[in-house]
Amino acid sequence: MSFLAKNDAAVYELAKQELERQSYNLEMIASENFASPSVIEAMGSIFTNKYAEGYPSKRYYGGCEIVDKLEQLAIDRVKELFGCKFANVQPNSGSQANQGVYQALLNPYDKILGMDLSHGGHLTHGAKVSSSGKTYQSFFYGVNLNGRIDYDRVRDIAKIVQPKLIVCGASAYPREIEFKTFRQIADEVGAYLFADIAHIAGLVAANEHQNPFPHAHAVTSTTHKTLRGPRGGFILTNDEEISKKINSAIFPGIQGGPLENIIAAKAVGFGENLKPEWKTYAKQVKINAKILADVLSKEGFDVVSGGTDNHLILLSFLNRDFSGKDADHALENAGITVNKNTVPGETRSPFVTSGIRIGSAALTSRGMKDKEFTFIAQKIAEVLNNINDANIHAKVRKEVKELSSNFIIYDKPTY
Ligand SMILES: *Cc1c(COP(=O)(O)O)cnc(C)c1O
Repeated sequence: MSFLAKNDAAVYELAKQELERQSYNLEMIASENFASPSVIEAMGSIFTNKYAEGYPSKRYYGGCEIVDKLEQLAIDRVKELFGCKFANVQPNSGSQANQGVYQALLNPYDKILGMDLSHGGHLTHGAKVSSSGKTYQSFFYGVNLNGRIDYDRVRDIAKIVQPKLIVCGASAYPREIEFKTFRQIADEVGAYLFADIAHIAGLVAANEHQNPFPHAHAVTSTTHKTLRGPRGGFILTNDEEISKKINSAIFPGIQGGPLENIIAAKAVGFGENLKPEWKTYAKQVKINAKILADVLSKEGFDVVSGGTDNHLILLSFLNRDFSGKDADHALENAGITVNKNTVPGETRSPFVTSGIRIGSAALTSRGMKDKEFTFIAQKIAEVLNNINDANIHAKVRKEVKELSSNFIIYDKPTY
């Protein structure tokens, strides 16, 4: 029996329920994934007990000789993975990694130019409700009506705004990000280029998406999305001066003692990302997303930008009589978890939206391939074509459970 089961029945019971939910639903939220049992075990390790403010061999506490080796291992692995010179693996999340970059490179009220949240950008790219939009003067670029970033337009906006930093990278953008073009634009206006690869990092690590290096001055990512690691973030750069500023921005700037247990899990995750099998995984993630796009297009749905280059697709319901929220609810009832999302030319509020975002990374981690994704795409179409038919939703829910049962990752909620 696990310690949790014995000592805290309430939390253990909830963990068991969550294990059920994760095992028998189809998790298709594009920002989620399933960390390996080794990653989860490392998160729950005794490294959680250690205070280690500072950086390897420059700590404010004694007894750090082992966590120094651990953190250095994580740093060396992530540098190898992305082919760069400097890494900070301490950010507790993607948002804190981004805050660290801003704090390192900007002063309050400096101008930043990022992708509009409603066009696929992230809150931390200058949205007014985020500290990035409160601390800095934020301006935005977006996608055109066919769902792609219009780089000429980005250049025009950059020339007018004259930002000190341009953010590229997105949370809901199905197409390749052209880092080289972004850098040319940044150079033309004398701005830093900051690439946030939170979503696509797992593909970049496998050379299945272009690398932000050597173009970006600073790169951030989460570790828990396509990378399949623990929940957390990191920052990379090739510039020594910038790396020093980033280290001071994270600690003591915005964080205290690093989560060395999570850093242990990051090291394990990066180790998995460095294995040859990772390339096979990343390729399959892309194949699976493409199958979703192809099958749903054939079924008559409007796939934003006409397809996908990465791990996600966006469906637009602008020409349908139901909303993204309706679609999200119907699919949830059928055991398929996605999220509602704004689409180019959006007419509804951000709480309702006219689209959904569907990702392939998590189910690919469960071992699902072409055959399963073709089936799933057909089931999504069936639910959306019968958006108000609870009987169909219940029937699909059963079929989803049957499929899920053959692709179980975890045999217990704690490791
Ligand atoms: C998810 C995401 C983040 C933030 O990550 P958190 O760990 O949730 O703070 C930042 N940028 C982009 C582009 C993201 O998709």
